[in-house]
Amino acid sequence: MTHVPTSYDQDNVFARILRREIPAQVVHEDELCLAFRDVAPQAPTHVLVVPKRPLARLVDAGPADEPILGHLLVTAAAVARKLGFGDAFRIVVNNGREAGQTVFHLHVHVLAGRPFGWPPG
Ligand code: AMP
Repeated sequence: MTHVPTSYDQDNVFARILRREIPAQVVHEDELCLAFRDVAPQAPTHVLVVPKRPLARLVDAGPADEPILGHLLVTAAAVARKLGFGDAFRIVVNNGREAGQTVFHLHVHVLAGRPFGWPPG
């Protein structure tokens, strides 16, 4: 099956947060990403780690994106540690609408502060 990249909408909510057009509770920022609290948390701590590079979905990333993808995971763990949850947290990446993706700017969910079941819903 041919992979069809999702076109990137410059006005998606995370692009607007990155441009500081709408507010967010930022917990970390560096040259490659921004991490901020989810507005509708699914756990006592729920942070989104968002690359500054405009990528709609994980599947739209290519070999050139390997450094940023690695950086997102390392940053997700660092954010969990910084917020006091270094020993137990859940990382989620929803790819595509049917998998639960609602914002089409790649993001890593960091959830912590409660037990997590398996398999995920
Ligand atoms: P997903 O469903 O994986 O695409 O995740 C999108 C997440 O973005 C959801 O958990 C939303 O609650 C969250 N979200 C949407 N708008 C905002 C916003 N303005 N600030 C923070 N989080 C948001």
